[in-house]
Amino acid sequence: MSVYLPCHHDEILDPLLNDERWQIELKAKYEQNLKIYGHPYMAYKIQCRICGKEFYARRPEAKYCSGECDESGAILRRRERARALRQKTCRCCKKSFEGKRKDSEYCSHKCKQAAYRSRLLRINTGVI
Ligand SMILES: [Zn+2]
Ligand SMILES: [Zn+2]
Repeated sequence: MSVYLPCHHDEILDPLLNDERWQIELKAKYEQNLKIYGHPYMAYKIQCRICGKEFYARRPEAKYCSGECDESGAILRRRERARALRQKTCRCCKKSFEGKRKDSEYCSHKCKQAAYRSRLLRINTGVI
């Protein structure tokens, strides 16, 4: 069962966000509701996470002032996720490193060589 919220059907990014008249209207609503309820209601003052500009939105979870900033935010999030995925622990020296490839296992050529040599040694001595 889903609870109906008046602004629930809105897009995450308000298409009218950049509309100056709309911003003025929301600002008035924000200030009015703040006076009436003592807290923001139906209109929220947000600071853009990308450019730092203050803007007004209908949703408290709005993060970006414009489509451009929203896009930059999406790129940043994607980059963050990719970096987290690349963060590896070297199987040889246990140091954490940023792998160039998804399947990187060693932090350096040196560690890779060392691991290869010790594997050879194990095979040669019959210990696996
Ligand atoms: Zn912005
Ligand atoms: Zn290493």
